[in-house]
Amino acid sequence: MRVKYIRNAQVVTENGIIWDGAITIENGLITAVGKEKDNPAPVGAEIIDACGYYIGPGFVDIHCHAGNNFLTTEEAEKACAFLLEHGETSVLATTDYVWSLERHVNAAKTVREVMSKIKNLKGIYFEGPGINIKYGANARDNPWKNEITEAEYTAMVDAAGDLAKVWTIAPERPGIKNFMAYARKVNPMVRIAVGHSEATPKQIMDMGIYKPTIQTHSMNATGRGVPDRGGVRGYGPDEYCFRDPDVYCELISDSQTIHVDACLQQLLLHVKGVNRVILITDGTLSEGDNPEELRHITDLNFDQYGALCGSKMTMEQACKNVMSSTNCGIAQAFIMASTNPAKAVGLDDVGSIEVGKKADFVIVDDKFNLKKVIIQGEIL
Ligand SMILES: [Zn+2]
Repeated sequence: MRVKYIRNAQVVTENGIIWDGAITIENGLITAVGKEKDNPAPVGAEIIDACGYYIGPGFVDIHCHAGNNFLTTEEAEKACAFLLEHGETSVLATTDYVWSLERHVNAAKTVREVMSKIKNLKGIYFEGPGINIKYGANARDNPWKNEITEAEYTAMVDAAGDLAKVWTIAPERPGIKNFMAYARKVNPMVRIAVGHSEATPKQIMDMGIYKPTIQTHSMNATGRGVPDRGGVRGYGPDEYCFRDPDVYCELISDSQTIHVDACLQQLLLHVKGVNRVILITDGTLSEGDNPEELRHITDLNFDQYGALCGSKMTMEQACKNVMSSTNCGIAQAFIMASTNPAKAVGLDDVGSIEVGKKADFVIVDDKFNLKKVIIQGEIL
């Protein structure tokens, strides 16, 4: 492949912005990054002019059930093509907790079959089934009501194998520890997330080696294991994850700040710091209608029973939204949309602009409008 050289760019790296920067790409990998004057174009390189815009690492959407109304699991090609157009150069196909065992197994098999053909598909995020069925959209359809038994999960865990990057669980579900032990046996690298849960901090700490390192959509579908009483504030997974410095908190930042109020988004950034917040789209299939007062809003999604059910957002919208709700800047938005999610799930070759990493980029203007998407050195 020809050597490529991106010039006239404000390069957003993990450690700051390189004004008037340039990036050299060979064979789809980054081979040099620096100021244009110190990092001249190699002889014969194909020159790409970034027109003075910002260039940041391609988005890494670890929690996305659907794109453009196609499931990332069952219709991965169509969904991932749409998500790539919106800068998502890495996507984890995300399952749904209300699915049967058979559907989970088939989803894992389908993803395995198409993985090699889809550049931005990087694995599977299992949102459940080991969650607390009290929490989440379509909860009344959840078939996983009883103690979790081996017969219910081995086929699913085996089918996913090393493609399983994350399992979201509720620590209070009976049988969950055996489930975790089996998931780790099959893939020692799998990450555990707490979500759709009302576990107390103590219940989470008692998970021991299965303690979560990710919180599935912080402040959404969480309860408080210890209820309010006598003016005492309850506490649950949100509070645990706020205080554990190792936990990455996923954030759904929609345009109306309905998933998480702007004040709470600011609180999250304040307590976790920019290096421990992960923007997700939680893109879902559209099922129900928006309530009357939100009819005109296009980035929200509701289930057939009228409950909030993920979003129809794309990641560049999420970045715009979080900048608007928290006052964070472009560099912080890239850290939350690309760098942190890649680190949290162990996608070590993407997520930041560094020598040796994949040449996955998005070029945006100062209002985070997408100008170009580049994946493994190829302009879309
Ligand atoms: Zn969820």
